[in-house]
Amino acid sequence: MRVISPSFEILRELDHGSMARRIEFCGRVCYKSEEKISDDSAGPFITNILKRGHNSVAEMAVLTIKVTADTQSYINHFYELVPRYLVIDRLDKATLLITGSVRGFRELFMDHPAVKMVKGITAVLAGRYPLFFDDLRPRSGWLPQAGIALEKVPLTEVETLDAGLMARHRFLAVKFITNRAVTHEIVRHRPCSYLQESQRYCRYDKDQFGSEVTFIKPMFFDENSEEYKLWARAMVETESLYFELLKTASPQAARTVLPNSCKTEIIVFASLLQWRHIFKLRTSTAAEPSMRELMIPLSDKFKVIFPAVFPA
Ligand SMILES: Cc1cc2nc3c(=O)[nH]c(=O)nc-3n(C[C@H](O)[C@H](O)[C@H](O)COP(=O)(O)OP(=O)(O)OC[C@H]3O[C@@H](n4cnc5c(N)ncnc54)[C@H](O)[C@@H]3O)c2cc1C
Repeated sequence: MRVISPSFEILRELDHGSMARRIEFCGRVCYKSEEKISDDSAGPFITNILKRGHNSVAEMAVLTIKVTADTQSYINHFYELVPRYLVIDRLDKATLLITGSVRGFRELFMDHPAVKMVKGITAVLAGRYPLFFDDLRPRSGWLPQAGIALEKVPLTEVETLDAGLMARHRFLAVKFITNRAVTHEIVRHRPCSYLQESQRYCRYDKDQFGSEVTFIKPMFFDENSEEYKLWARAMVETESLYFELLKTASPQAARTVLPNSCKTEIIVFASLLQWRHIFKLRTSTAAEPSMRELMIPLSDKFKVIFPAVFPA
């Protein structure tokens, strides 16, 4: 068995690549198949993922657009839909600032294909990002809608919005390597998107995992203490039982013996507003100590990167 300390990485470099690349990178965390990423692997990976219904992968890339409608009723009708997974702010009477994930925009069209604003937005996005919308193309094709104009807002411009708008429209991904007790708590934050290493697809007896189970060092016990020795003994026994089960059972069946201490990887993708909420709850003295072990240094980094949203 292997014992490692928990860690995190803010995935800022993903913000500067294509949406397809970031979706593939995040999606492959589930299968731990990052070594399969190549110059042309994103397209087939994404098409296959969407076909299989592994939809949360399509939440891992957002884009921000400014939509202008020359008729008030188009905007009113759009608001009446109450789109749940889009962040929408009205910049002036005729202009909306909208941030949404690939999934958010896809499902907006799937749920409301006849609404003028929705048709107008999707027609432009589908022309620009066919990979994400081709399977939804109507028989008549993607028809631009008169009276509706759309402009993509670059990330550099999102970062110049006032702090309130930036907190809502700037999304950021963080990859955590931690134990499954901590990730079970993290995923309780509902307005975020998550992708996590799957114990159904990953077989830890394979070479790729060093043919061993990796556990996260518990911060509760000193390494020389009796408690730590007891914990380590339990992990050794668990690993051996897991490998024994894998001789006849599938990983999803064998994983039933794996404990909370098992190492996992999770990508959390959220707006700065949601990160602020997470830090408030998860750095407080009431929070679980292994959670604080990650969230306190992470929140310090956010204060340096986005001081307007996370004042020191
Ligand atoms: C110290 C501590 C102890 C905890 N103990 C337990 C425990 O013993 N058992 C347990 O089950 N959980 C426990 N939790 C989890 C906790 O109850 C929340 O589920 C978790 O912290 C997510 O935070 P949240 O509910 O504020 O909102 P999030 O899910 O992060 O959502 C962000 C915001 O969106 C809004 N929102 C999202 N969904 C809804 C909704 N359905 N209705 C209304 N508003 C919504 C709210 O304004 C919310 O503040 C604990 C959390 C902490 C920090």
